Amino acid sequence: MPVSGSELVKLLPKRKPCRDCGFPTCFAFAMKLASGGASVDKCPYLDEETKAKIIDLLAPPIRLVTIGSGENKLEIGNEEVVYRHEKTYYHPPGIGLLISDKEADDKIDEKIRKIKELQFPWIGLMLKANLLAPYFESGDKDRFLALVRKVYQSTDVPMILISEDMDVLFSARDLCGDRNPLLYPITKENIEKAIPKIKEKLSPIGIRGDNLESLVPLTMKLKDTGIEDLVLDPSSKDVMEGIRDQTFIRRAAIKQGFRPLGYPTIAFPCFIAKDGLREAVAGSAFISKFTSIVVFSDFDQYSLLPTLIQRLNIYTDPRFPIGVDEKCYEVLEPNEHSPVLVTSNWALTYFLVSAAVEATRIPAYVCVKDSEGLGVLTAWAAGKFDGESVGAFIKKCGIADHVKHRKLIIPGKVARIKGALEDALNLEWEIIVGPKETTGLAKFLPDLAKKLRE
Ligand code: SF4
Repeated sequence: MPVSGSELVKLLPKRKPCRDCGFPTCFAFAMKLASGGASVDKCPYLDEETKAKIIDLLAPPIRLVTIGSGENKLEIGNEEVVYRHEKTYYHPPGIGLLISDKEADDKIDEKIRKIKELQFPWIGLMLKANLLAPYFESGDKDRFLALVRKVYQSTDVPMILISEDMDVLFSARDLCGDRNPLLYPITKENIEKAIPKIKEKLSPIGIRGDNLESLVPLTMKLKDTGIEDLVLDPSSKDVMEGIRDQTFIRRAAIKQGFRPLGYPTIAFPCFIAKDGLREAVAGSAFISKFTSIVVFSDFDQYSLLPTLIQRLNIYTDPRFPIGVDEKCYEVLEPNEHSPVLVTSNWALTYFLVSAAVEATRIPAYVCVKDSEGLGVLTAWAAGKFDGESVGAFIKKCGIADHVKHRKLIIPGKVARIKGALEDALNLEWEIIVGPKETTGLAKFLPDLAKKLRE
């Protein structure tokens, strides 16, 4: 639950407004603190204990935890709402692939290849799985360390190191500590022994409780020792229990502001489902229900793609349609005689238009005007695709330097902007009204391209 400025001001020194924080009053400073626009350090009169209390109150209800490093690092947690329609979700769950050290070498190589190669371009994004999870199952420490070394050297994806044996777990951590792996599992049985080893080189920690309640003393103990990047596993036995546990954790953290459960979570469909289809369904349920990392025993393109699209759909901000960047896109290596089409930047519109152009095999420029992700007609109705603004965009996008002709194709649905657009372009461009539907480009574009060449 977000803390308010009027609650925070009770903790401030309330000196005669000294303004040393840069704000006219303590209350103004408190309001800014609550909105995240100022740092508590700005007030020099706070003792350390009060500062820590304020920082704790300002912390997000679910801690942001980073696994891995560099470009591929995975950020999870930091969510603010239970249901997406209340605002949005911010950090999509990581999809992980388990690699047991009991698996044959060629199977291990195949899984490493999958995590690198199974990537899907999708409306301007690249969808892919995020993590590899080396799993100590063989009882042979050297074999496990060789597996961790192989994953470390052949990929740069974040890792989850899984070992019940703490000596093996921390030896593996020492091999790849700079990659900031998630260490799993820390339990009530091994926590005392693990804490000094964890503190040698901090890395995110996966805590496994016997059940939901038993997670609480573990997170409190770790937090007291300064270990705060935690990921929770309530050891759900099946999907129903998993959904219940994940929902309970999310509601406790966000609705009740219960800090000991205010951490991202992990689930293992690979351990609780007995066959590929059930595992895929379990994974899908966990992705829908608040889980921050979901680990599968295996996947191929046919099971991974639907999972990635489901994740994309849930974690797309419902307040904004998906848009592509405003610019002139080249389709099929156009030249100075190629047609120029203009459209809005709703991702679906752009991909339908460019796919229709590609299908005609006629190279063209597709100039995409920023319309805040709206389709052409909706954008026109909202005043974001009118003659004046489209004209301004055409002038600044530089298309005039790429083509000799001055013919611009506008979508048939907004034929009414023709006159205003001609005016905005000082009658230097001839405005051609294209088909109302992109399917109409199949005939329209070849005819036009022929005229442009003549
Ligand atoms: Fe109040 Fe501290 Fe700001 Fe002074 S510096 S006005 S005491 S918040």
